Amino acid sequence: MADDLVLFWHRRDLRIRDNLGLAAARQRTPKVIGVFCLDPGILDGDDIAPARVAYMIGSLAELQESYKAAGSELLILQGEPAKAIPKLAVALDAKAVYWNRDVEPYSRDRDTQVAEALKAKDIERSTQYWDQLMHAPDALKTGAGDPYKVYTPFWRKWIQQSKQAPVEALAETTGLSPHEKALANDAGNIDLPSAKELGYEWENGLLLDPGEKAALAQLETFCDDERAIAEYDQQRNYPANPGTSLLSAALKFGTIGIRTVWEAADSAYSRARSDETRENIRTWQKEIAWREFYQAVMYTFPELAKGPYREPLKDFPWDNDKTLFQAWCEGRTGYPIVDAAMRQLNQTGWMHNRCRMIVASFLTKDLIIDWRWGEKYFMQNLFDGDLSSNNGGWQWSASSGMDPKPLRIFNPASQAKKYDPEAEYIREWLPEIRHLDTGVLISGDIPEKVLEGTDYPKKIVDHKEQQAIFKERYKAQK
Ligand SMILES: Cc1cc2nc3c(=O)[nH]c(=O)nc-3n(C[C@H](O)[C@H](O)[C@H](O)COP(=O)(O)OP(=O)(O)OC[C@H]3O[C@@H](n4cnc5c(N)ncnc54)[C@H](O)[C@@H]3O)c2cc1C
Repeated sequence: MADDLVLFWHRRDLRIRDNLGLAAARQRTPKVIGVFCLDPGILDGDDIAPARVAYMIGSLAELQESYKAAGSELLILQGEPAKAIPKLAVALDAKAVYWNRDVEPYSRDRDTQVAEALKAKDIERSTQYWDQLMHAPDALKTGAGDPYKVYTPFWRKWIQQSKQAPVEALAETTGLSPHEKALANDAGNIDLPSAKELGYEWENGLLLDPGEKAALAQLETFCDDERAIAEYDQQRNYPANPGTSLLSAALKFGTIGIRTVWEAADSAYSRARSDETRENIRTWQKEIAWREFYQAVMYTFPELAKGPYREPLKDFPWDNDKTLFQAWCEGRTGYPIVDAAMRQLNQTGWMHNRCRMIVASFLTKDLIIDWRWGEKYFMQNLFDGDLSSNNGGWQWSASSGMDPKPLRIFNPASQAKKYDPEAEYIREWLPEIRHLDTGVLISGDIPEKVLEGTDYPKKIVDHKEQQAIFKERYKAQK
């Protein structure tokens, strides 16, 4: 019926533009009511970053405004989705509940439970939309018909597929009558709480403002700027340069649609006047495909979420020294590039990709600490923390994932020399040793004498010795 009330359940798609499931709901009826459920199953976990909650709440506040401007509303529930969503749907006599699919094991179980509870109440579900990806996670197969386990062939196949254009934004829609609003309130609709009210305090600001508008503006700036996407390949590895898009939290929470992102990159590619520029843009597109690769493997091999994929790392004899781990968390290992990166994470809720690889290698290969400790610490601090990308990044760094190259060990000194040659990044995050010579800062071996009078620690381990120990243990495991 034309005026059927339909609920659209937002999860990691906090926007009204280019949203597949939402556009389908709007096509079905002009009366689309948005709903978001604050799920204690997620929010009460021990891997939640205050910065991430701040970004999410800010994005929800903007989404409420967007719904209002379209003539409807975004309701907020708090509680177990399998109870809260059907309760609201029944109270409002909703004819259907729509949502976009997700790849994560927890979300998939939760969605099954919500779907079953709705089915028991005879309420239609419409949930077939793979909104967060350009291609469904099980769409691409090798020549033998198997799922991809290796990125490069995945990318080759992925880039050949035709890409969908962005879909219509939520157009004018009808909201709840005052009577229906009262029913929604009785069924659990609450005012949007602040991050602080949810128990998460984040006062350091965010590198990307929450919400759809900021994400779109950031995409436009990045793709239009001659020095950003057009020089991405050259700039992206230098943590002192603002050479990356900073769109990861927007992609995590879906404050921007992936088709919109792709269209902007593709249009920059078409506008490019040189092979070199096209190469740079291609590299950025490859990063977008890394995100899709990690989501595809998480969907197909959900066991990745629980631990190492490769045999040698399954029962690895980690040292798991708590004091060393604490030093790593605080950015006090005595290796400046590692410490600068950890301070960047602790203070901003974000870390440059090159540095994520450096600190992950250091934790696993130098401190010989189980990568899952680092994976969790990242989730407790990243504002873009995302199970698939984080787990993928950590398994890649720990050599425990699906990657064909078996053992990867980063030397912190070589990394600093190559990617922070003037020690600008190190100086930015380590004010206590800012005055030291560049050569010393990037040497990976600061003489103890030089540190006298500073509050900076001496090296907590020796890179050469530790990597030899790691290699030996790794060989013994194989
Ligand atoms: C140990 C480790 C942990 C990581 N944890 C996360 C995480 O929790 N969440 C997250 O979004 N990314 C994670 N990454 C990937 C990457 O570091 C970030 O996506 C990137 O730094 C975000 O900055 P940006 O948006 O400026 O990226 P850009 O360089 O502009 O890249 C554009 C987008 O591509 C995607 N992307 C880029 N690199 C990767 C990658 N290696 N893997 C998957 N997707 C990628 C992101 O969505 C990113 O926003 C991790 C990497 C490592 C090595």
